[in-house]
Amino acid sequence: MKEMEMNINSTVFDVRTPSRDAMLDVTSEVQRIVTDSGVTEGTATVYVTHTTAGVTINENADPDVIHDVLKALDLAVPWNQSFYRHGEGNSAAHVKSSMMGCSTTIPVTGGKLVMGTWQSVFFCEFDGPRTRHVMVTITGN
Ligand code: ZN
Repeated sequence: MKEMEMNINSTVFDVRTPSRDAMLDVTSEVQRIVTDSGVTEGTATVYVTHTTAGVTINENADPDVIHDVLKALDLAVPWNQSFYRHGEGNSAAHVKSSMMGCSTTIPVTGGKLVMGTWQSVFFCEFDGPRTRHVMVTITGN
């Protein structure tokens, strides 16, 4: 019996963020990387190599959802707080980064990301505008 070959490959793409806080739908970029990898069964891990950004999966249909998420994060973690010590002045961005997390893993079946009808993968910016890097690692066969 032939041994099943496991492929692992990583690709980095850039995201240009428009404002201090933003959530950008990167699902099509991630799907393109899955397609290019040739992997049909496995996982795609989307990983952000930044401490003031994040990645999450949420609703893509009503843009008000993203508006509300960003507003709620701002309310929970105000930009200015008298107790912040971090000298860069962007403590709120660091806290929001940890709240969203720096990676998410999505199953791949039939060469497609397994996403619900209303789901998208969002890059989360909390200290923009900047150019950011997103790493996608595809594992499978
Ligand atoms: Zn900082």
